[in-house]
Amino acid sequence: MKDHIDRARRYLGTSGVDALLLSKDENRRYVTGFSGSAGIGVVTRDAALLVVDFRYYEQAAEQAPGCEIVRGATDLPGALAEAVRPRELRRIGFEAESVPYAQAERLREKLRPAELVPLADVDRLRWVKDEEEVAAIERAAKISDAGFAHVLTVLRPGMTERDAAVEFEAFMRRAGAERLSFDLVFASGPRSALPHGRATGRVLQAGDLVTVDFGPVCDGYTSDCTRTVVLGRADERQREIYAVVLRAQRGAIEAVRAGASSRAVDQAGREIIAAAGYGEAFGHGLGHGIGLEIHEGPALSPRMDVPLEAGMVLTIEPGVYLPGWGGVRIEDDVVVTADGCRVLTHAPKELIELPV
Ligand code: ZN
Ligand code: ZN
Repeated sequence: MKDHIDRARRYLGTSGVDALLLSKDENRRYVTGFSGSAGIGVVTRDAALLVVDFRYYEQAAEQAPGCEIVRGATDLPGALAEAVRPRELRRIGFEAESVPYAQAERLREKLRPAELVPLADVDRLRWVKDEEEVAAIERAAKISDAGFAHVLTVLRPGMTERDAAVEFEAFMRRAGAERLSFDLVFASGPRSALPHGRATGRVLQAGDLVTVDFGPVCDGYTSDCTRTVVLGRADERQREIYAVVLRAQRGAIEAVRAGASSRAVDQAGREIIAAAGYGEAFGHGLGHGIGLEIHEGPALSPRMDVPLEAGMVLTIEPGVYLPGWGGVRIEDDVVVTADGCRVLTHAPKELIELPV
């Protein structure tokens, strides 16, 4: 975690503060190594502190050896103020995007006369992954590959979405996923037109499109994969739309490389779908960063234009959704490299027609 503390320190320089408070779970974990669900990390030019409550004294000492542990008992802001007072910090940054207003006010009160400075881009610290982080995402992706192979052996007409989803999740948990980063998306038949449809009691039928979106987590890091299959023989339209989405997905993957703009990658996939006449049916961004969070920056979307950097891990997930008919989405995870990208999820992508 020494690297991540250094990275936070460089960020102090660019954002004009003397210290950075880390209250958001993922940021605190990223910088300090501590995976508990409460506490405040503090990085200054020459120190790293971690203020935790009674429940976490032992865990913090074990997971955050690079930090001085401050025992906050039941008053974290009070303990924080006491620990930083002798350091004479003038400007202290906090995560404006994730600290609740009331908590920010409490901190402002306690930290006076230091000025509490709202910072909107702290999450950016985590955008570029190091090798260890990519390896964790890759372990999660392996579990998702195995999970998808397993669910193909389970799916059949007559079972409910919920039964299939439970089996899918249990398999991934047994295979080593510490949790799933979101409730499985499991949407069949016309419900597959819902980009985030959760499993229901709907009974699977021959001819259904089935979209599954799954994100097993390893060592805190998530993967994120979607596949769409057909129960039985695909009809003309299912075949056509599947082919469009697959072409868009491959086209977007081709466009990924360090230096490419996030918007250009979105565009590469979006144009293929629009050219096929389904532009209106693809209403979300083409992808997003993944890591300790399931949705991180940078977003691959018409609204964000940032240059991609080697080490960013992104999803590539175009889809076409037609209300009343159904939908197709195909999603892989890629790590950006100097001259392209490496795909981390390997579940098959050619249209799968499951025997019924
Ligand atoms: Zn997904
Ligand atoms: Zn996703």
